[in-house]
Amino acid sequence: MNKQILILPGDGIGSEIMAEAVKVLELAADKFGLGIELSFDDLGGAAYERYGVPLADETLERARQADAILLGAVGGPQWDTIDPALRPERGLLKIRSQLGLFGNLRPAILYPQLAEASTLKPEVVSGLDILIVRELTGGIYFGQPRERRVLENGERQAYDTLPYSESEIRRIAKIGFDMARVRSKKLCSVDKANVLASSQLWREVVEEVGQEYPDVELSHMYVDNAAMQLVRAPKQFDVIVTDNMFGDILSDQASMLTGSIGMLPSASLDLNNKGMFEPCHGSAPDIAGQGIANPLATILSVSMMLRYSFSEVKAADAIEKAVSLVLDQGLRTGDIMSEGCRKVGTAEMGDAVVAALKNL
Ligand code: NAD
Repeated sequence: MNKQILILPGDGIGSEIMAEAVKVLELAADKFGLGIELSFDDLGGAAYERYGVPLADETLERARQADAILLGAVGGPQWDTIDPALRPERGLLKIRSQLGLFGNLRPAILYPQLAEASTLKPEVVSGLDILIVRELTGGIYFGQPRERRVLENGERQAYDTLPYSESEIRRIAKIGFDMARVRSKKLCSVDKANVLASSQLWREVVEEVGQEYPDVELSHMYVDNAAMQLVRAPKQFDVIVTDNMFGDILSDQASMLTGSIGMLPSASLDLNNKGMFEPCHGSAPDIAGQGIANPLATILSVSMMLRYSFSEVKAADAIEKAVSLVLDQGLRTGDIMSEGCRKVGTAEMGDAVVAALKNL
């Protein structure tokens, strides 16, 4: 049966980068004999304009029915002042939580061709290949109660809640260990167990899950140290598993080690490996509509979809190879441009990946 894929381009550069990713997806499907059927809908600001909400019920239902979802990015300044409950980012949080997409995989891989684009010294980052496994549907971004109030003395106060239950920690830890098992068999769990009760439980449960993975070497690190180590000696890490907020921050930090956020894909998986795949970057309103955005993170998200949701390893490998070949050819969008390379736009970069994939 054909795989049903829901395409949500979103806002800003979303439609530009998605057009290129769809070209690559269609070619990969053709080349590797995968039956796919694409449908399109809106999320975020585009959905707010069309449906009056950032995630319409019918879109959510379509997402539930789909085998996988490919997302561009959401958000933009034109929606910064609307009712906070209707902001584009709300649609994103809702689709993740409603579909139970708790396992966020964020690889930070430095393509050797881009070593110069990193702000860190080439010897510190060359060969970098880290996978951050971030818990995505729990913790402080979802915890209740959260409130803003005025105290008796007239002072404003606000607070959030950081809850983690054993089952939430267990299932994300398992993903961390599974990923480590097929990579270098090293897992680093990042927490703040010296201060936070939720982190103490986190560490305890990760240790327990570790008993089932005697072949994986488990270590623990406090998040403040992890932030420092990521820029000091990032290659000491292979797979990192961490909570929602720490993962949010550390994965953006890790992305810069690789030169540009425009290169980084992500996968958000449920218990059955159904997933939503999206670039790590946002909607880049500053460059939207100019045809200059880097489509490679979205193209690499297609590769993650084929690998993790459909187990189409050959097709996934081929897309990654095609991207690498295009970088070998010296083609660069503005965000990864360096001396001696040729600057191209979004469509030209997408076309080059298509051409490379065709010839593989
Ligand atoms: P951003 O990632 O959109 O942009 C940060 C910088 O990186 C900008 O200078 C942008 O031009 C550049 N950039 C991002 N993607 C690029 C690409 N593919 N090619 C070339 N350059 C690229 O982050 P921001 O500016 O903080 O946020 C803009 C909007 O995106 C906000 O509304 C924010 O809420 C939203 N956002 C959405 C997501 C998501 O949809 N998952 C993630 C982060 C931010």
